[in-house]
Amino acid sequence: MNVVILLGAPGSGKGTLAVEMAKRPDIAHLSTGDLLRGAVKAGTPAGLEAKAYMEAGNLVPDELIARMVGDYIAENASLSTVLLDGFPRNVAQADILADLLAKNGVTLRCALLLDVPDEIVVRRISGRRVCPACGAGFNVDTLPPKQEGICDACGAALVIRKDDTPETVRHRLAVYAEQTFPLIAYYRERNLLRTVDGSGDDLEAKVKVAFETIQ
Ligand code: AMP
Repeated sequence: MNVVILLGAPGSGKGTLAVEMAKRPDIAHLSTGDLLRGAVKAGTPAGLEAKAYMEAGNLVPDELIARMVGDYIAENASLSTVLLDGFPRNVAQADILADLLAKNGVTLRCALLLDVPDEIVVRRISGRRVCPACGAGFNVDTLPPKQEGICDACGAALVIRKDDTPETVRHRLAVYAEQTFPLIAYYRERNLLRTVDGSGDDLEAKVKVAFETIQ
């Protein structure tokens, strides 16, 4: 297994890009946000612990998310390339990940930063809609469903994520600036940072550039 970390602000398009890249059979996508939302929905002990942090737009405790990612890596050793979307979120998690990868004999190929200006990030988050049934993501401006408000994949009514309200989004962007942004320097110092321009809306073009960049 080798790992590519996707870095970028909430709303930078990491999840959308990862879903598209993972259509290739040799690529898997691990979204820690999706993993946590699944645990909350299922009412597992980890989900019950995570719920309040997530609804307030705060990070869940490092140990909790590290355990979940560790289990995934140990259980999926046969996968070729895993895109990590949403982990690590701070320097402590980056150190935990380095240990986890070393322990499991996994290579960190690079950290791919999706670079997007703040005003685009805010616009994208306000247009974001998700399917509560199957988890598919849409955007009323850039990736609209075929029928307004309805999931293309399963036909359920789309919703706005609980942590996508304007107040919580402002808080999540502050958390990103304070805790996650330092990871750009962290991976640059280790010569692992690669950057792609994430501001355009042409998903196919971004996927192509992303694959070229992580080669
Ligand atoms: P996301 O879907 O990546 O925006 O994540 C949604 C929420 O899940 C975040 O606001 C955090 O509360 C939580 N979360 C996801 N990944 C992590 C992580 N690596 N560390 C801590 N909290 C996380």
